Amino acid sequence: VLVGGYAGGWLSAEQVDSTPLTAAGLRAAGSTLGVGLVAVLPPERCPVAETARLVRWLAGESAGQCGPCWNGLPALADAMEELASTGGHHLRERLDRWAGMVTRRGACHHPDGVALLVRSLLMTFGEHVDEHRQFGWCGAEPPGCWLPVPAAEEPGLGAWR
Ligand code: SF4
Repeated sequence: VLVGGYAGGWLSAEQVDSTPLTAAGLRAAGSTLGVGLVAVLPPERCPVAETARLVRWLAGESAGQCGPCWNGLPALADAMEELASTGGHHLRERLDRWAGMVTRRGACHHPDGVALLVRSLLMTFGEHVDEHRQFGWCGAEPPGCWLPVPAAEEPGLGAWR
């Protein structure tokens, strides 16, 4: 379950059962109340692909005035798309490290939200992330988009859609 919107955090079914719907409870579980949006991922959808799409969109939703948004978020988006499409054993460590590097480094909390989303994916869907690292695209059906983003065209995603 994605809790807190597109800059929120993924929770497993077990965490949903045990986590109080409070700011403190969600923070302790690695998520946030955020904008108050809750989305339940259908079983046929790929959380890595959905997160990659959201990170790419979020990376484009800044003025690029601070280092984390100029350098960090596009790099996170590239790495997420690589994880979703072709995989790579280095990607878990890279994503975790880069998410840490952008956190609390901007003039606002936009990069923090993207980092939270990425790190919650690594934590909540660890096994599926490892499958992507090893094999690349998981073949989830139906391919394409589930969580909508405003932009009709999303550069860089065509290779694995
Ligand atoms: S950190 Fe915030 S203020 Fe700085 S470029 Fe990113 S979105 Fe803009």
